[in-house]
Amino acid sequence: MTINVSPLTREFVAALDAADPLAPFRDQFHVPEGVIYLDGNSLGALPKATPDRLAQAIRHEWGSALVRSWNTAGWYDMPRRLGDKIARLIGAQPGEVVVADSTSVNLFKVLAAALKLNPGRRVIVSEPDNFPTDLYMAQGLIDLLGNQHELKLVRAEALVEAINDETAAIMLTHVNYRTGYRHDMVAITAHAHARGALVIWDLAHSAGAMPVDLSAANADFAIGCGYKYLNGGPGAPAFVYVAQRHQAGFSQPLSGWMGHAQPFEFDWKYRPAEGIARYLCGTQPVLSMIALESAVDLMLTANLVEIREKSLRMADLFVRLVEQRCAGHGLELVTPREPEKRGSQVCLRHPEGYPIMQALIARGVIGDFRAPDILRFGFTPLYLRYVDMWDAVDILADILNTRAWDQPAFKQRAKVT
Ligand SMILES: *Cc1c(COP(=O)(O)O)cnc(C)c1O
Repeated sequence: MTINVSPLTREFVAALDAADPLAPFRDQFHVPEGVIYLDGNSLGALPKATPDRLAQAIRHEWGSALVRSWNTAGWYDMPRRLGDKIARLIGAQPGEVVVADSTSVNLFKVLAAALKLNPGRRVIVSEPDNFPTDLYMAQGLIDLLGNQHELKLVRAEALVEAINDETAAIMLTHVNYRTGYRHDMVAITAHAHARGALVIWDLAHSAGAMPVDLSAANADFAIGCGYKYLNGGPGAPAFVYVAQRHQAGFSQPLSGWMGHAQPFEFDWKYRPAEGIARYLCGTQPVLSMIALESAVDLMLTANLVEIREKSLRMADLFVRLVEQRCAGHGLELVTPREPEKRGSQVCLRHPEGYPIMQALIARGVIGDFRAPDILRFGFTPLYLRYVDMWDAVDILADILNTRAWDQPAFKQRAKVT
């Protein structure tokens, strides 16, 4: 859909909400009064079902049934069961995804696997502006392996040429956390495979934000985050995907007992589980997994194609309103305009980005800031409305026109930005 009513009115925007098939989902989330939440890409909102589900788990499963709940409440099977549910959101097959640990830790496991499955090749290709933890984990692994590998960082434009017969693995975030740029997963994976390299996709800004089809892309490995678009809550466990064809070829080095073939035989010798379970390490955070499952169950009732359409439409509307109403204030659009080249966020560059974002947050418009100069706004179609775009830009325009951001309090950097 193109929005070409000029100039836009709030009534026109409200009519988009009235026709929105996803509108009823908003009522399934706790959205605080007076807040326009444009940061679901960093910490997803709380589904209304989650507190009761957690309270029930705490009182009954933990409080009353105690250790029996590993069997009776299905705690033991949860990483695999929830993995199979997330698989449906990312185009994976049952038995290819398991929920465990954090995204950083899971990257370590699959990068170790990719290097082991591609012996004789020493280069890991990634981007300088990939999310830092991915690059840090790669550096740690390279060091552990005796510094025989090299992390080669190339810009997106130069990626294709950089992949050659020395490349063991390519490690990319599907949607860039800072700019919102989206890679062509199918093309890059095919190109890498043609040159004998394996690909690791970080889906932190894709899972739950848009349809992803790992099977169609013939993906090798993927990891992703539970607390962003999947709404699993702060520090929710992450997930890891390993294509069926690679599962038996390697057992990852964090060889904890939950990844053992028979943990309750208590044998001294490590023997990896068949299938994806070997990507588990130790005991998983059950309560956090229950919160994540409650959110994933809700997301599975939504249509990801509709989510993607609404997210693109909201972003278009937001950009158009910013261009109409905030012109002359030096904001620069960083996110690509082409729908296939962007994720579910809009990033604007401004030299005073930090205090502008603090001023927005003080007025209830919550986005975030990514150094050095990026204002980041995430669009989560299940709990945002089109009028939120209108109202957010209204406040942004006011803050810019009145220079409300130009106060010492807004320039004080917090620990988390
Ligand atoms: C958010 C994010 C992570 C987070 O990793 P944690 O281990 O959960 O802290 C990793 N990679 C990318 C690309 C992210 O956006």
